Amino acid sequence: MEKKPKGHVIVLTYPAQGHINPLLQFAKCLVSKGLKATFATTHYTAKFIRADGINVMPISDGYDNGGFKFAPSVEAYLDSFKTLGSRTLTELILNLNHESNSSSPPVNCIVYDSLLPWALDVAKNLGIYSVVLLTNSVSVCSLYWHINSGVLNLPFETEKFPLSLPGLPLLSHDEIPSFLACPTHHSAYLAAILEQFLRLGDNDWVFANSFEDLEIELVKAMEEAWPVQMVGPLLPSAYLDEEHQIGTDKDYGGNLRKPNDDKCLNWLEKQPQKSVIFVSFGSMAEIDEKQIEEVAWGLKMISSNQNFLWILKESEQKKLPIQFLDSIGEKGLILTWCNQLQVLANRAVSCFVTHCGWNSTLEALSLGVPMVAMPQWSDQPMNAKFMEDVWKVGVRVKKDENGIVRREEIGRCIREVMIGGKCEGIRSNASKWRENGKRAVCFGGSSYHNIDKFVAKLMK
Ligand code: UDP
Repeated sequence: MEKKPKGHVIVLTYPAQGHINPLLQFAKCLVSKGLKATFATTHYTAKFIRADGINVMPISDGYDNGGFKFAPSVEAYLDSFKTLGSRTLTELILNLNHESNSSSPPVNCIVYDSLLPWALDVAKNLGIYSVVLLTNSVSVCSLYWHINSGVLNLPFETEKFPLSLPGLPLLSHDEIPSFLACPTHHSAYLAAILEQFLRLGDNDWVFANSFEDLEIELVKAMEEAWPVQMVGPLLPSAYLDEEHQIGTDKDYGGNLRKPNDDKCLNWLEKQPQKSVIFVSFGSMAEIDEKQIEEVAWGLKMISSNQNFLWILKESEQKKLPIQFLDSIGEKGLILTWCNQLQVLANRAVSCFVTHCGWNSTLEALSLGVPMVAMPQWSDQPMNAKFMEDVWKVGVRVKKDENGIVRREEIGRCIREVMIGGKCEGIRSNASKWRENGKRAVCFGGSSYHNIDKFVAKLMK
């Protein structure tokens, strides 16, 4: 007989790929432990989400027919989402409660994305539990926390660098998140993040998509000061323990773009073991034409027994030089989207040239794939710093005096990871983090324990 869920959680996401994936995965994890989960996202994104056991319900951000790209600015978008989102999320919960029955109990908790701090007020007004899920590393989060607690002041003065903070390596100006390095450029995102951190302690739980071992220095340094608990890596179950088969779930379930799976997997199938350089700069970054050209020729120049798979949005593919496209032949495959986890887990993939978005970084760490970091904006420069200097699973590219990463530098970094002096160490560290990530989420692990305690409380 089917078990009746004992608690009902609304999981609310910001409508971007790097947010939908961890929040949806967390919702699936809660369902697997016996809770009911309703996934709330904007009208525009709701239609892309299909995940077993998850009820998907739309709310409004004011741009129901096309989403974020129709907003005049980030600030206007976040304001509109706050006003309409608060109202429609409240209505959704009241409706769900009105229709509640034994298989859909009344909503007793909101788990919300850290970019949507207004959800805390919705939970408080309804008298239910509020849980924020941080979608950056906790090391990055600690910087925002230090700003609100007065340890750091914006804008950062040049003489403050390198920054020396509890539990973090020394950080130079180009290693901190761009929201902090150039606060005026990203004022709307920064305001939402700082609002979140100002009220962090008002939540019943604060969770982060990371795991204790990965950021242990920070965990030790901040333990007493803040309420954050780790629940990651939030990855579909099939990737977390292939050996013990703790699950068969291979996809997050919410792709906003259609992956070209057949073409991608057929091509990978033909490549030798650990020979492919996989390149992707995520869902949001816009790369300048000159930079795309340098990456293209850098990939063309890699060793003759390596090929590349490059994920590039349509808008970015237009920037590729014609001579390059005419010359690649069998050397490379360029697609607009793929199932990144499936690619990273593929036996043919040996190295990931990445923008170091937090999800991509965690995915590569959890699947043991060495990286070449080419960070673009947001938290990526700091993730890249950790990837090279703390976790030691790859190298970061260096820009020239015009801010461009040249083709020779891209080639140099790929060689460094593949055959350079550090390559053995990098591979063995990558395997170590892969095991540590699995351990955190499997029975008895630190993230497993944090989630279990939370679920038990909600079921009471
Ligand atoms: N992703 C994917 N297919 C692609 C490129 C990216 O499935 O072709 C997924 C990737 O696995 C990750 C997310 O999209 O979970 C991107 O999040 P991330 O934080 O790495 O970067 P963002 O897109 O937010 O910059």
